[in-house]
Amino acid sequence: MSGGAQVRALQPGYLIVGNWKMNKGPAEAPALADAIVGAVGSPRCAVAICPSFVSLPAVMARLEGSPVALGAQTCATAQSGAFTGEVSPTMLSEVGVRYVILGHSERRQHSGETDASVAARIRAALDAGLRPILCVGESEAQRECGETEALLSSQLKGALGGLSGDQMAKVAVAYEPIWAIGTGKTATEAQAEATCAFIRGQLSELFDDDIAAGTPILYGGSMNAQNAAGLLSCPNINGGLVGGASLKPDDFAAIVAAADRLEAENHVG
Ligand code: PEP
Repeated sequence: MSGGAQVRALQPGYLIVGNWKMNKGPAEAPALADAIVGAVGSPRCAVAICPSFVSLPAVMARLEGSPVALGAQTCATAQSGAFTGEVSPTMLSEVGVRYVILGHSERRQHSGETDASVAARIRAALDAGLRPILCVGESEAQRECGETEALLSSQLKGALGGLSGDQMAKVAVAYEPIWAIGTGKTATEAQAEATCAFIRGQLSELFDDDIAAGTPILYGGSMNAQNAAGLLSCPNINGGLVGGASLKPDDFAAIVAAADRLEAENHVG
């Protein structure tokens, strides 16, 4: 990997985000939210959980007054209009959503999201006051063919190119190698760090060093209670996007606790 960056001075505080994917409808989601709020306690780091659209109001009711923020798993490219079946960023904001995951590989694979549509979603989300979490990442075949850097570079440029510095200050990037999502096959700390350093270098080129240094770069891909501390201690990893383990309150809380310990040691945030 080339173009990496060492940026401890401006490192953002840790952000741990749970992606519940298509699990936990309104009947089950409130109990999981309660369990997560109870298990994480009063974290130093930022924490968010992202249920499905239909569970957002029920989960928000349980998160009121807690340190856990609400996130969504995608949003529309516009705030209203003739987009049957879509949910706009403004609507998400109305129910209390603060973060929105955009360009997740499962959305790119199954729902036709492209760099261009992700770029439009990011802008719409920012216009509604949401904080986008842009997901980028390569397949196993792309990594084996040495295409990772070119792919990440075009995903980042395609989704973020043209944003202002003020807009970019609200964006987080999640590096999610597709081969590690839901597979139990985590990237090694060296792979994750090298790739996140590359991403930060790309952000320096697209914006500037300060913006790159201040952008939270999360790792996602089978993060769990056992591997979280090692991954989160990498200098260019500022948090985690957590799928499977976010459905298990104790495991998710252990990841949050690992981030908290590191945040206390590093005096970041
Ligand atoms: C994800 O859904 O973004 C994810 C990283 O899932 P998992 O943690 O299950 O690999």
